[in-house]
Amino acid sequence: MILQRRLRLLFVLSTLILFFRVTHGAEKDLKPFDEEVFIGEVQAHEDLKKLIVSPSFSDLYSGELAYFPKSYEESRGRFLQHINKLALEIKEAKIDRFLVPSPIYGDGDLTVDSIYIPPRKEEKGLLVIVSGTHGAEAFVGAAFQELFLKDFLPQLLQSQKNDSLGILIVHSLNPFGMKYMRRPTENNVDLNRNYPVKEDQYEIKRPAYADFYSVLNPQTSVDSLNWPVLSFLKLLWQSVFGSVSVGEIFAGGQYEHNKGIYFGGQKKEPQVTYLVKKLNTLAKNYESLMVFDLHTGLGKTQLQYMKPAYLTEEKLKDYKKMFDGFFLTPNSAYTALGDFVDYTYLAFPKKRVYSATLEFGTLGESLKHRISTMNRIIKENQGYQFGYEDSYLQKAVKNRFAELFYPRSKDWRRMVLCESRNTLSVLVPRFQRSLGDEVPIGELEKCIN
Ligand SMILES: [Zn+2]
Repeated sequence: MILQRRLRLLFVLSTLILFFRVTHGAEKDLKPFDEEVFIGEVQAHEDLKKLIVSPSFSDLYSGELAYFPKSYEESRGRFLQHINKLALEIKEAKIDRFLVPSPIYGDGDLTVDSIYIPPRKEEKGLLVIVSGTHGAEAFVGAAFQELFLKDFLPQLLQSQKNDSLGILIVHSLNPFGMKYMRRPTENNVDLNRNYPVKEDQYEIKRPAYADFYSVLNPQTSVDSLNWPVLSFLKLLWQSVFGSVSVGEIFAGGQYEHNKGIYFGGQKKEPQVTYLVKKLNTLAKNYESLMVFDLHTGLGKTQLQYMKPAYLTEEKLKDYKKMFDGFFLTPNSAYTALGDFVDYTYLAFPKKRVYSATLEFGTLGESLKHRISTMNRIIKENQGYQFGYEDSYLQKAVKNRFAELFYPRSKDWRRMVLCESRNTLSVLVPRFQRSLGDEVPIGELEKCIN
């Protein structure tokens, strides 16, 4: 008992020290992900009441790092080039474009683009690769997709090894978020909390989130990069003594506060309706699905595969066998509501479903980095909703946010490509083998960050 109390005291003291380091200037320690490294230009859209910033990443890297796009428009253009060429070569391929209605800002050029390539012989397994569920994370997702389209798919098609494999690639599910470097949509909806996973999904109440509403969503313009002291102490108190974890309060999803972080919406977002319909139609005839939803920003600085939260014991064994050798995250302390990967698993209970959130971590998951991650997400939303005291703060907040989800570090980007190659040369062929297609399986490379 006494030991426990001492441990708690020790924890509180060390966290307080950490608090002052993190909240008062120590963010500079977070190299190579600090603002000095990120020099993307920002262009404020002055005509819009809210301060929307569309980053224009300078053309940084060529050669092996040229997969990473510098803007939404460039990324979409490159994707369209690939899929238009494919559609000319394969007459059964179908390309598709969905115009996302974005009335608030009058941006009439936000599209979700996709290609579906059916198998040569029999519809057995469907591979689905989605980028941009979180807009700001779409740049890395698009790089993964380009790697597949450029370096893997041509070989697969030329060797005619896709007898049973159908392929659906969806580019930038949240084009507004990609274009203006936000995670949620134009309606402030987090698409990864918006899928209809539970009955009455959009009626769910989260009292703990409501308690912390003003901590997570300050109602004033951004006047500092630091955490307000009292807010931080409240979260600290909760993490030591509270019954609901800070992680769940912060990121579990909520359906009541449309200006708050992790808002899951009050109905399906248009592109969720679109993708759900597309998946239901295409997947109907397939017996297995492999779904990759591409994300960045959270967890360890490597690629983590996050499995569906509702996997049954029986299916878990088979799932683990498929992902053997890949880093599957342990079950987290809470379940996020309305997650895409959970949806793909729950929607097709009779099929074998290997869906995973592919999360390329950036800062890392030490306590210091977790605190900084939360701070960056909160400040970005606060600035979007209520503006900034000055342009320096605006730029600093946007840059830190961009560095969290699209780091410029060359080593980090090399790691992304290396991990992506592992996924495409080992996991996809494994999936094909499970369908009966005789394809070679590559060797797992060790990716160093
Ligand atoms: Zn994400």
